[in-house]
Amino acid sequence: MDRGLIRGKLSIVATPIGNLEDVTLRALRTFKECDVIYAEDTRVISKLLARYEIKKPLQRLDASTELKKAEEIISRLEAGEKVAFATDAGTPGISDPGARLVSLIRANGSMATIEAIPGPSALTAALSIAGIDAAEFTFLGFLPHKKGRQTALKKIVESEIPVILYESPHRILKLLKELATLQVARVIIARELTKIHEEILDGEPSDLARKLEEKGAVRGEFVVIIENSH
Ligand code: SAM
Repeated sequence: MDRGLIRGKLSIVATPIGNLEDVTLRALRTFKECDVIYAEDTRVISKLLARYEIKKPLQRLDASTELKKAEEIISRLEAGEKVAFATDAGTPGISDPGARLVSLIRANGSMATIEAIPGPSALTAALSIAGIDAAEFTFLGFLPHKKGRQTALKKIVESEIPVILYESPHRILKLLKELATLQVARVIIARELTKIHEEILDGEPSDLARKLEEKGAVRGEFVVIIENSH
């Protein structure tokens, strides 16, 4: 077969970060028209697909299987297939699998097109309602739990532009207490974006830690913005 005539396509698709209505029309069309969907968790993508009555073969591709599944996807693309990839929430590659997949496919020199289907990300959603000047910012994703954590915290405290982090409910109080110890004056937390309990908390880290503790067990998903310049 003349490989030049067939051109597979890999679509990297952003999906909602909570509210299923946030999926784009183009994301839905991509899912409808592709041959197979690779997803970080097939149960999670199934809920979105069911909501829009889309039925497609599903394959799992998570951080631990990204390299192996990339080989499989390369074979599909070489056969001219259309492949979509989505993570559990938001934009692939942003503190999520996807980057190694894209880089391997590009390095393979395949004729395939790699396209972005942009959409939600907790990072941009948080910044859009933080009420800070985000002309410049540093995004550090999840801080390391042990090795490198102190260095990262030092970098945050010294930053002259806002620093954005992702944090889990299990570690948010620890982070806020560390920031309080380092004399950080202002933190903005965007919690449960696009969901029923969406809220913005803005203040000194020790006050925010107290507010979260008062609510009992800390639940939800968090974007943390450290604003040193105020
Ligand atoms: N790729 C995703 C994106 O584009 O936002 C991020 C994936 S990362 C594994 C998951 C983290 O994103 C969560 O721990 C939380 O910090 C943040 N996050 C995801 N959904 C969120 C939401 N609805 N509200 C606040 N933060 C969220």
